[in-house]
Amino acid sequence: MKREAFNFKKHYFKEWNEVFDNPQQITVKSFITGQVLLNKRGALNPDHPKAGAINNELLEVPVLAHWIHHEKLGDYLIDTGLDSSYHNDPHGNMKGILAKLFIKTNLFVDEYKQAKNQNISYHIKKNRIKLNGVFFTHLHSDHIAGTRELPKNITYVTGKEEKYHDHKPFFYGDYLKGVKTLYEIDFEDTVDMPVLGKCIDIFGDESFWAISTPGHTKGHISFLVNSIEGPILLTGDVCFIKSSFKNGVAPSSYTEDVRVNQKSFDKIFEFKMVYPKIKVICGHEIS
Ligand SMILES: [Zn+2]
Repeated sequence: MKREAFNFKKHYFKEWNEVFDNPQQITVKSFITGQVLLNKRGALNPDHPKAGAINNELLEVPVLAHWIHHEKLGDYLIDTGLDSSYHNDPHGNMKGILAKLFIKTNLFVDEYKQAKNQNISYHIKKNRIKLNGVFFTHLHSDHIAGTRELPKNITYVTGKEEKYHDHKPFFYGDYLKGVKTLYEIDFEDTVDMPVLGKCIDIFGDESFWAISTPGHTKGHISFLVNSIEGPILLTGDVCFIKSSFKNGVAPSSYTEDVRVNQKSFDKIFEFKMVYPKIKVICGHEIS
């Protein structure tokens, strides 16, 4: 798989109110592609000064993919969730000489659940979606595994330097097998927007924005959809559950750099305070 720069037009500085006053014919629909168990202690960082007492509590949370429909530019996904291999196998056909060992010892692997007709290609067919491309928040398996059952002659986009964990021959899922080029968004020379910092107007019509939110992973991206139904912010795994917004506490589990992720979350938290009309969708909870 090659990696190439994703091309976009640089926008000039704007206030978000100007952007929100110019909403576009673009909609979001979230699909549940399965479930996974998440410990509340860790989904909210227990060491954050405002965390209070967070007990061990297993939460069953959805594994999501989001359909973006732009009236003129067609259909895209944010993340691909899970493919149907998770229906009969809680580890989604993980392969490799160490896979069995890791599964047996609960190391590096989570157990997923998937009901019939939750897999991503079922949602795609049911909604008659003609996919033009996929934007990944990041490359953790529960955000990319569904790619295995999607067409490969479309555009796949991730953040610059985002790591793809496919450790052949030890353990791997072949999640992006067949994707010839993975396009990378480089936020380096982009214009800062109020509160959120580095942002990109992906389609150049202010309908769909990529926001650099590193920490959960290095190249993590959140997205903002400027819909006529009101602005929608898809945080990705900067925060997993809505409770993060109660006290402003981001996750610590599954997070590469907890401090950097908390900084990214603080921006999103402030953004939501300044623009309360924004609907926020967390990485693993549908509001
Ligand atoms: Zn993740």
